[in-house]
Amino acid sequence: MKDIILTGDRPTGNLHLGHYVGSIKNRLKLQNEGSYEKFYIMIADTQALTDNADRVDKVKNNIIQVAIDYLSAGIDPEKVTIFIQSLVPELFEMTSYFMNLVSVSRLQRNPTIKDEIKQRGFEKSIPIGFLNYPVSQAADILAFGTTIVPAGEDQLPMLEQAREIVASFNHTYSPKIPVFAMPKALLPEESICRRLPGLDGKVKMSKSAGNAIYLCDDEKTIKEKIMSAYTDPDHIRVSDPGKIEGNIVFAYLDAFCENRHFEKYLPEYKNLDELKAHYQKGGLGDVKVKLFLNNIIQELLAPIREKRAYLLNHINDIYTMLFENSKKASKEASIILSHMKDEMGLDYKKLLK
Ligand code: ATP
Ligand code: MG
Repeated sequence: MKDIILTGDRPTGNLHLGHYVGSIKNRLKLQNEGSYEKFYIMIADTQALTDNADRVDKVKNNIIQVAIDYLSAGIDPEKVTIFIQSLVPELFEMTSYFMNLVSVSRLQRNPTIKDEIKQRGFEKSIPIGFLNYPVSQAADILAFGTTIVPAGEDQLPMLEQAREIVASFNHTYSPKIPVFAMPKALLPEESICRRLPGLDGKVKMSKSAGNAIYLCDDEKTIKEKIMSAYTDPDHIRVSDPGKIEGNIVFAYLDAFCENRHFEKYLPEYKNLDELKAHYQKGGLGDVKVKLFLNNIIQELLAPIREKRAYLLNHINDIYTMLFENSKKASKEASIILSHMKDEMGLDYKKLLK
């Protein structure tokens, strides 16, 4: 059987390089291979509201920004159904039934949620919706029969939660015909791409942490951000030996550099191993390495930025596509929702004689 793919992003800001290597690259690969049954990308506005309840405008305005980022990165709306979460009410009905299958303490043990609670200062008072978002996300995934979720490492606990809900549903309701598929995460092959660090070297690159290079950043901003990236604080003089571990510039080179980049931009070295060895020995300055990285990132982002400029003149068409696709997604989700309710015994129509 062919795969059903679903993935998504919160409209809390523009997409960044972490999204690109963590999820978008795999989405493009799957899209271009074309061997799937269905492919959905969800803009998770309702999930974004769980920690932005008083910033509705921010979430609303970022829906189009995220959609433009997808299209400019190469996602093809003819091949992929891009939809808006809040326009698919079936997801929230499904969430309600799932909430009865998950305990509060289970949600509090979710390691991604634990980190995010700290990051957002929610320790004293956690919005219920925020704590519950892994359950809601399970509904997003399960409502479409999803088998594959291309995502970064922070999503593994969410996928585990979704699989636990399937097991608990099966145990509680013993469905005669299976309702849900067991979804699996598709992580990037290279470990650095599963959780790309932010420019500050502290936490993962994230919209909420303000430590990101965005796909829409202009040439000057990209260069400024790269020149300010965290390296090795003990590498003071060019002649000093430098550390690679925890050095963000080398982390980004691990994620983005290919051998062909050396030929084009830094022909004195054959590959990244040679460059790293020189840095570790001493005699290679941060500026040279940063300028090399800058060339690589500029080459990647320039065509995306050009496409964005074109798409900005077609905003209405993009909204129309999103609204139509959301209707289609709603119809499709209603099939599994209604099967689910039947298997639970919530088949009230059968009461009519
Ligand atoms: P927010 O700070 O609002 O949570 P975010 O930057 O974490 O935003 P999300 O919309 O939560 O972005 O994540 C969307 C997808 O991108 C998920 O699959 C997530 O795993 C992936 N992703 C986000 N940041 C990174 C990163 N730094 N490295 C790899 N993948 C990432
Ligand atoms: Mg996130």
